[in-house]
Amino acid sequence: MPLPNYAYFKGKIVPYSEARVGVLTHALNYGTAAFGGVRGYWNPDEEELFIFRPLDHYRRFLSSAKLLCMETSHTPESLTQITIDLLKTEGYRCDVYIRPLAYKADEIIGVRLHDLTDEIAITALPFHLYVANDTNAHVTFSSWRRIDDNMIPARGKISGAYANSAFIKTDAMRAGFDEALVLNQDGHVSEGSAENIFMIRDGVLITPAVTENILEGITRRTVIELAGELGLPVVERPIDRTEVYLCDEFFMTGTAAQITAVTRVDHRPVGSGTMGPITTRLRALFDDVVRGRNPKYRHWLTPVYATVNAAV
Ligand code: PMP
Repeated sequence: MPLPNYAYFKGKIVPYSEARVGVLTHALNYGTAAFGGVRGYWNPDEEELFIFRPLDHYRRFLSSAKLLCMETSHTPESLTQITIDLLKTEGYRCDVYIRPLAYKADEIIGVRLHDLTDEIAITALPFHLYVANDTNAHVTFSSWRRIDDNMIPARGKISGAYANSAFIKTDAMRAGFDEALVLNQDGHVSEGSAENIFMIRDGVLITPAVTENILEGITRRTVIELAGELGLPVVERPIDRTEVYLCDEFFMTGTAAQITAVTRVDHRPVGSGTMGPITTRLRALFDDVVRGRNPKYRHWLTPVYATVNAAV
C-alpha cells in the first residue's frame, strides 16, 4: 500500500514523514485512541472526488472520542474542511480512504483516560477493494466473541478494541475464509471483524440492532435508507447463528467493504450459493449513490475540488 504524501498533524498539514509519534505514546501502548474510516470516490465524468457522508462519519468519530473522555474544539464541519484541504494538497484523482485518528498523545506510563493530551491526525490513501472477493465471499463463525459494551464499547471505533477484530480476521483468513462473523456475549450474531451484517429472509432485510455490540455503521444506515428506496422492509433484531445458514441472501457492509455479498457460510451455500437479486440491486444503487450518479442522494456527497472554503 503506498504511503500518503501529507498528513494533518498537530494542527496543520505537514509532509507525512513529519507526522511521527514516540514509542511511549499513551495510545500506542494502551490502545487509547479512536479512529474513523471515510471513503472518497472519484467520478471521472465530473473530474470530481466525492467524500461520502463526511459529517456523519465525523459525528461518529467525535462520539468515539467522547467515549474516551477526549476534549476537542473540532466539529464535524471543521474536520470535513481539513479533509478537503488534505485531499486537495494530495491532489488525488482516484478512490481514496481517509483515516482520522484521535489519540492520547502523552509519552508517559499510567493507564487512564483523564488528565491526558488529546491530538487529532488525518491521513488519506488511494484505496480500492477491502474484501477482495466482494461478490462471492466465504465466511465462517469465529470462535472469538465480540467485545461487550461493558468491556470496550463496540458502538465506537476505539483502537484498542481492534485487537478483538484482528484475532477474528486472522484466524478466519488462516483457515481459508474471506471474513468471519462474530457472536456477541448472548450468542447472537453481531457483525464481521470490520463490517455490519444483513441477512435477507422472505424479502425482509434483517440486521442486528445497535444494542447487539455492533459498530454504529454509516454504511449500515445508508443501506437501511436505500432499502426504503427499493421498497424493502428492514427489521432490526437479534439474529441466531442458524438463521444465517437458512437465509436467502447475506451481505456485509462497511466503508472499506462497501456491500460485500456473502455466498457461503461455513461451507454451506447461502440461498442459491451465488449473489442474490436484492444484494445485486442494492450494490448497483449504492455504487450510483457514492459516485454522484443519483441526484436524490447528492446531499451525502461533499465534492473536494468544487469546495472552495468552509461551505460544507
Ligand atoms: N463494524 C466494525 C467493527 C467496523 O470496523 C466497521 C468499519 N468502520 C463497520 C462495522 C462498518 O462501519 P462503517 O459502515 O461506518 O464503515
